[in-house]
Amino acid sequence: MKIHNPIKNNHKGDILDNSIYTQKDPLSEILIPQYYRGRIVFRAEPSQHAKEMLEDICPTKAFEKSQMRQFSVDHGKCITCGKCSDKFPEFINIENKFARSVKNRDSLIEISTGEKTISDKPYEEIGHDLKNKIQKLFGRSLAIRQIDAGSCNGCEIEITALNNPIYDIERFGISFVASPRHADVLLVTGPASRNMEIALKRTYDAMPDPKIVVAVGACACSGGIFGDTYATTGGIDKIVPVDVFIPGCPPRPQALIYGLFLALNKKI
Ligand code: SF4
Ligand code: SF4
Repeated sequence: MKIHNPIKNNHKGDILDNSIYTQKDPLSEILIPQYYRGRIVFRAEPSQHAKEMLEDICPTKAFEKSQMRQFSVDHGKCITCGKCSDKFPEFINIENKFARSVKNRDSLIEISTGEKTISDKPYEEIGHDLKNKIQKLFGRSLAIRQIDAGSCNGCEIEITALNNPIYDIERFGISFVASPRHADVLLVTGPASRNMEIALKRTYDAMPDPKIVVAVGACACSGGIFGDTYATTGGIDKIVPVDVFIPGCPPRPQALIYGLFLALNKKI
């Protein structure tokens, strides 16, 4: 009699093979769905009428036309709602690539001529450099304390995914810890509600030096959809010094890993 062995028969549906595999390259774009709304790009310089309309329809006021600067989009404010690209597809496109993390808040602002204020190398290149660095430093670890400073929990869901079998961030020596006293990185979500202001500052103060602060999502970068109101501070950099800004609403796991690698690079 033939006995069914689930260990030997590695086809779909077997107990030990649920077709979920840890990705060797978590920065791979293969993991990004075709219709994922990621980064805003200008196809062409919008007309004067379009600029005025864009400033009006964007719920987070991510578009800006000032006398000092050309028409620009602030990736730190964009919640990728798609209203701008739906209205003016001839001028605006939303790529399915995530907006890159940066070390400087101003680097999230991109002008419409296509000339980027981001001085960093393309993310594929940086990702490659950082992965090499991680490999060289294998054995070293990075401890993260995550703090929710008033988020909608969308960012937390993506952060939680970092520990699932697909992304498995612990293989890089990166782990989440319960106490700020054990942490190297403070990963903050939310616009920093006024109610969380003191808790955020105390958590930061409790961390040993050197410490890194990473702002996760449009809310933490700029206030996002919550903005700057009586109840919110309009971005965590108003409370604690931020080293790396990760845009997105929410940033997908690859974007988080990229931001953490950037933070690790800064630390080393
Ligand atoms: S996709 Fe971003 S930039 Fe466009 S309208 Fe929505 S929030 Fe504004
Ligand atoms: S950035 Fe978006 S997903 Fe993250 S907390 Fe803010 S609203 Fe929620």
